[in-house]
Amino acid sequence: MGDDATHKLVIIGSGPAGWTAAIYAARAQLNPAVYTGVAKQDPGPVLPGGQLMLTTEVENYPGFSHGITGPKMMEEFQKQAERFGTRVIPQDILACDFSTRPFTLTTSEDGFTPGPTVRAHAVIIATGAVANWIGLPNEMRLARSGGGVSACAVCDGALPHFRNQPLAVVGGGDTAMEEATYLTKFASTVYVIHRRDQLRASRIMQERFLSRPNAKVLWNKVVTDVLGENIITGVALKDTQTGEASTLEVKGLFIAIGHTPATRFLQGAGVEVDSSGYIVLKTRSSATNIPGVFAAGDVADSQYRQAVSAAGMGCIAALDAERWLAANNVH
Ligand code: NAP
Repeated sequence: MGDDATHKLVIIGSGPAGWTAAIYAARAQLNPAVYTGVAKQDPGPVLPGGQLMLTTEVENYPGFSHGITGPKMMEEFQKQAERFGTRVIPQDILACDFSTRPFTLTTSEDGFTPGPTVRAHAVIIATGAVANWIGLPNEMRLARSGGGVSACAVCDGALPHFRNQPLAVVGGGDTAMEEATYLTKFASTVYVIHRRDQLRASRIMQERFLSRPNAKVLWNKVVTDVLGENIITGVALKDTQTGEASTLEVKGLFIAIGHTPATRFLQGAGVEVDSSGYIVLKTRSSATNIPGVFAAGDVADSQYRQAVSAAGMGCIAALDAERWLAANNVH
């Protein structure tokens, strides 16, 4: 800590960005404290460890030539951060006051009830973005168990059990088109299930998907249930115009109905966010509009959202924080 009661650096969030920031900051002897967050259902399945806790096999993170599961990967990141003296605090930060220095952060043990406040000279926000889910019980169950439901086709779509199988993507935006186009390389047929009769996606992204021979769009349909015990076997659909119910046999379901950045706890704290709630960073830096407050990972990146890009941003944030603390004589 900078003094007895004040952390030199607090990192909020425990996904790839948070742990990587911690590894760098701990090795730079900043004695960082990581507030990991606590599992809770509102506004979604926010988990300590981040979105990778909902992923089964990670095959695109360099260095793991045989792949690694998302939860195991986060466990390894945490161990590496702890090896250099990172303090791991299994609590949430409910609110931040960046108007005074050192900053004041309100902790919470359950994610709802305000607990004691702590002080910090610098803060790295790495709280991520939560994939939006439809909200069906079987959807979440099969997503958590690796049963063929996922919110990231680029992460999971190339896994062997999806090859040459019918797959479905829910959503009509650019992400849905991007994910669906990616899946056409592996799947027998890719169905885009969209609730309206018109896609929201840009024309070029639509055309890229629709030009594939194995692309199909099911218009005016919503998913009302996900079928299958251990592995998805299909989805139940309802027509939004006629109300007619039907089923579709699929071996994989990819939800692409947007993400929600975890920035609600920053309300009133003065950190600049864009119209979708993502933190705005200065070009080629992790600096926010508030000196001493940095951000890394999906909370500040609506575009790439990969574990490896988040980890890279975590590294940048730790280096930026280290320089900022030195320049401000916090030793
Ligand atoms: P988005 O543009 O908000 O689209 C979300 C889609 O999901 C919409 O089609 C929406 O339907 C549908 N949806 C929302 N809630 C739903 C629900 N409960 N049930 C069924 N469908 C639901 O999100 P996004 O596609 O993730 O894109 C986010 C931003 O990133 C956009 O600005 C996008 O342009 C950008 N992006 C760009 C690229 C690229 O250029 N390469 C790639 C990906 C994303 P409605 O249309 O009926 O509202």
